[in-house]
Amino acid sequence: MSNSPWERAQKLVQNAAALAETSPHLLAALLVSDRTVEVSIPVEMDDGSQRVFHGYRVQHNNILGAYKGGIRYHESVDMEEVKALAFLMTMKCAVINIPFGGGKGGVRVDPKKLSARELEELTREFTRKLSLVIGPTLDVPAPDVNTNPEIMRWIADEYKKTVSSQKPIIGSAEQHPEAVVTGKPLDAGGSEGRTEATGLGGSYALQAFFKEHGEDIRDKTVAVQGFGNVGRWAAESLQKMGAKIAAVSDSRGGIYIPDGIPDIAAVYKCKKASGLVAGCYCIGSVCDQASSEEVLRPAGRMCDIKNREKMRGHNITPEEILTLPVDILVPAALEDSLTAGNAEKVQAKYILELANSPTTEEADAIFEKRGVTIIPDILANAGGVLVSYFEWYQNMHGERWSKSDVFEKLHASVETAVTEVFRTAKDKRISSRTAAYVVALRRLSSSANPAPFRHR
Ligand code: NAD
Repeated sequence: MSNSPWERAQKLVQNAAALAETSPHLLAALLVSDRTVEVSIPVEMDDGSQRVFHGYRVQHNNILGAYKGGIRYHESVDMEEVKALAFLMTMKCAVINIPFGGGKGGVRVDPKKLSARELEELTREFTRKLSLVIGPTLDVPAPDVNTNPEIMRWIADEYKKTVSSQKPIIGSAEQHPEAVVTGKPLDAGGSEGRTEATGLGGSYALQAFFKEHGEDIRDKTVAVQGFGNVGRWAAESLQKMGAKIAAVSDSRGGIYIPDGIPDIAAVYKCKKASGLVAGCYCIGSVCDQASSEEVLRPAGRMCDIKNREKMRGHNITPEEILTLPVDILVPAALEDSLTAGNAEKVQAKYILELANSPTTEEADAIFEKRGVTIIPDILANAGGVLVSYFEWYQNMHGERWSKSDVFEKLHASVETAVTEVFRTAKDKRISSRTAAYVVALRRLSSSANPAPFRHR
């Protein structure tokens, strides 16, 4: 059975279309991308050599508004992956009810192997190559895996320079060029709360789910796979809500403390300093820190492990985190981490999908059979694009909103969407994932053009 995220997405929309009474015309439009763009990005490296990187931008659908979606820097990026992620953005914007369509982009690169100058040059050249197809009312990128506010600043800056020197052939006159991209630093027109938005939105989604089902999030145990931007803020917020974060991991492993990690912010600081989560057992500001060598070769000498012993902690592999005895599993890394190979061993009763497309089709079927509840990606991680919309709106209207205002609006929108999706699931006796697609398709149907006029 094929399991590529793009094929999986197409099947999901086909299944939901029958339940949402989607017109064949709209369904056909959603099963393809409006436009795919592939560019070459030549970069002069620090040693004087030339390298050419490959970049992609997919504009899936703009029925609801300008194409919107992040830019990812990763060695595994290819057109199929970007197509699937752009499709998910169309559905995500619809389910969270904002006037944006779906887009996504990426560059096939391991950014950790580039110097800061090379990374900036790559980003600026990619922006120049895309400048004719992006714009505040046309297509608005944002951060994703391995891209951050500083990279968004370079995109906004390069876009401004490029459009002031050439008239775009597509798109309208630019009065607010900074709105070409979201997730910018505050001093470049970013919004308060954008950095935290995806993780925080996920925690609000879980809280709303428990509220809807008369349950309490307090004292539930949580394992978070992926301790980057999204995983870190989700863990911090869930901890503030009273959940116990028992484990966090990155691509090289992680830590498991059955009684709960006392201070997520300290672990994040430790990861930043040592480059690894594994070994970051922190009590206050005092952390055990293993070097990368020690974690990869655990038989070797561990440095100070006082805290680890005191907390009864263990280092875990990237795979182990998925099957720990916890109530809630939060995949917040990359696609396809939950598969037929590990789904039977997952012990969590709830899965909060903060990564895009973390569950394969086979794993989804296993979870459904086992009664595991999934808060699906297009709902669980929609907080990011929602606050991106707030940022774009503030740029377009010359406004500045406070952080508390942003979080209040985020909370209200996520709660409304969660309630709508889970009530649809209950009414129609369908999975939460199918229900999220039904809600999205209904919204798209109400904005779609009717099928083209035909002579009889
Ligand atoms: P990031 O680059 O900040 O963090 C990714 C993390 O995943 C890193 O800690 C990395 O080490 C870890 N990771 C990679 N492979 C892993 C593995 N096999 N096991 C465990 N950890 C692994 O990226 P991010 O912005 O936090 O995005 C994470 C996920 O959330 C992605 O799927 C992304 O598409 C999705 N997402 C992000 C946003 C956003 O606003 N950033 C919005 C919606 C969805």
